[in-house]
Amino acid sequence: MSSQESDHSELAKLRRASVAPAAGALPVDPSRCRSAAKSGAPCRAGATASGYCFRHDPAISAETKRAASARGQKSLQQRLEREKAALAQQRAQVAAAAPGALLPPALGDVPDWSTPTKGRLFLQELAVKVAAGRIAPSTAKALKDLVDSSMKIVDLELDAELMRRLQGGGA
Ligand SMILES: [Zn+2]
Repeated sequence: MSSQESDHSELAKLRRASVAPAAGALPVDPSRCRSAAKSGAPCRAGATASGYCFRHDPAISAETKRAASARGQKSLQQRLEREKAALAQQRAQVAAAAPGALLPPALGDVPDWSTPTKGRLFLQELAVKVAAGRIAPSTAKALKDLVDSSMKIVDLELDAELMRRLQGGGA
C-alpha cells in the first residue's frame, strides 16, 4: 500500500466527515446524554437538564460522582444482603413445610452465572412432577417462589458486578 498518500488522507477526511461531524454537532436526542461512551458510541443514558447524564456532566465534580456511585454500590450491596437473608428464610420455611421436596440449588456467596438455566430446568421438572401427581400444587408453588427469589438475587448480583466493573474501569 505505497500509493496515493494524499488520496488516502482525503478518504480519511471524507470518512470522518460522514461518520462523525464536528464534536458536539452530533444529531442530538435531547432526552439522551450528549456525550459519548468510552467506546465512542453515543452515551445512551438519559440526560438531565444539563444535556448530559450524571456521569458525563462536566459541571459535576469527579469527587461527587465517585461518592454517588459508591453510595449506589453500597445500597445495592445492602439490598443484596437483605434479599439473600430473606431467601435463606424462605428456603428454610419451604424445607420445613415440605420435607423431602427437592429444593432448588442454593445460592453461594459467589455468583453462579448458570443459575438462571438451572432455575428453568428445575421449574420444568417441577411441572412434570405436579402433572404426574407426585408433588402437591401448594408445594410446587412454594418451590417456584423460591426459584423466583433466587433469580431476583442473581439479577442483583449481575447488577452489582456490572457496577463494580464500571467503577474499576473508570469513566
Ligand atoms: Zn452520558
